[in-house]
Amino acid sequence: MLSNFHTHTYRCKHAFGTEEDYVLSAVRSGLSQLGFSDHAPFPDQDFGYRMDYSELQDYLDTIDSLNNKYQSSIRLFKGLEIEYHPEYTDYYRQLLEEKGLDYLALGEHIYHSRSGELKNIFFAESTDDVMDYAENICKGLETGLFRFVAHPDLLFINDLPIDENTEAACSMIIECASKNHVILEYNANGYRREKHLYPDGLRHPYPHPFFWNKVAKTDIQVIVGSDCHTPEQLYDNSVESARESALQLGLKLTDSLFY
Ligand SMILES: [Zn+2]
Ligand SMILES: [Zn+2]
Repeated sequence: MLSNFHTHTYRCKHAFGTEEDYVLSAVRSGLSQLGFSDHAPFPDQDFGYRMDYSELQDYLDTIDSLNNKYQSSIRLFKGLEIEYHPEYTDYYRQLLEEKGLDYLALGEHIYHSRSGELKNIFFAESTDDVMDYAENICKGLETGLFRFVAHPDLLFINDLPIDENTEAACSMIIECASKNHVILEYNANGYRREKHLYPDGLRHPYPHPFFWNKVAKTDIQVIVGSDCHTPEQLYDNSVESARESALQLGLKLTDSLFY
């Protein structure tokens, strides 16, 4: 079965296409399940690169009505890609229980550092930052609120050497996912980003084999996610490359979050 559970829309202000554009692209590519996971708003804080809170209800209503309209071709799911901040635990529950979301994907971009400062993993300055990032993910997974971790190896986007902190951070994320039975996402969007010369060589920023070779030694379930920001990307060559690499790495792939 073909599916995708990491899909953005125009609402996050850095992706293109309406929900219906993505449904049509998914149907054309032969997908039977499509989950929307646009960048989630927080009710009282704007961390940037995400939909406004005022858009949330329309996003959910739109997916519901498209699910009816296209029910003979595809099954749609309502999700959000969202960071874990402990002070928003009630909000995550409200999204799942009152707003009727089918799932939350933990997409950690903005996180709390050990000094209490909010930092962005795209701009980690040291592997201490990377450790803090992993700890935040771990705490999030322990809540049981998240169905999968989006790009759990996003930390490799930084121009940092791979050291004992990197090793510990990767192990921490993998052990937490395993203990809490959370799926890890093998993210195709990393293949859309250009190769760059990092301290460990020329490569895409992620997915990184350093992380995934460790995952391959566990029973953790892995899902390939498109992380598409245009309808054309939904099932493109990057998704095919990601799927092939994931199989070569010996990862235990699952097709769906919902059976
Ligand atoms: Zn995005
Ligand atoms: Zn995403």
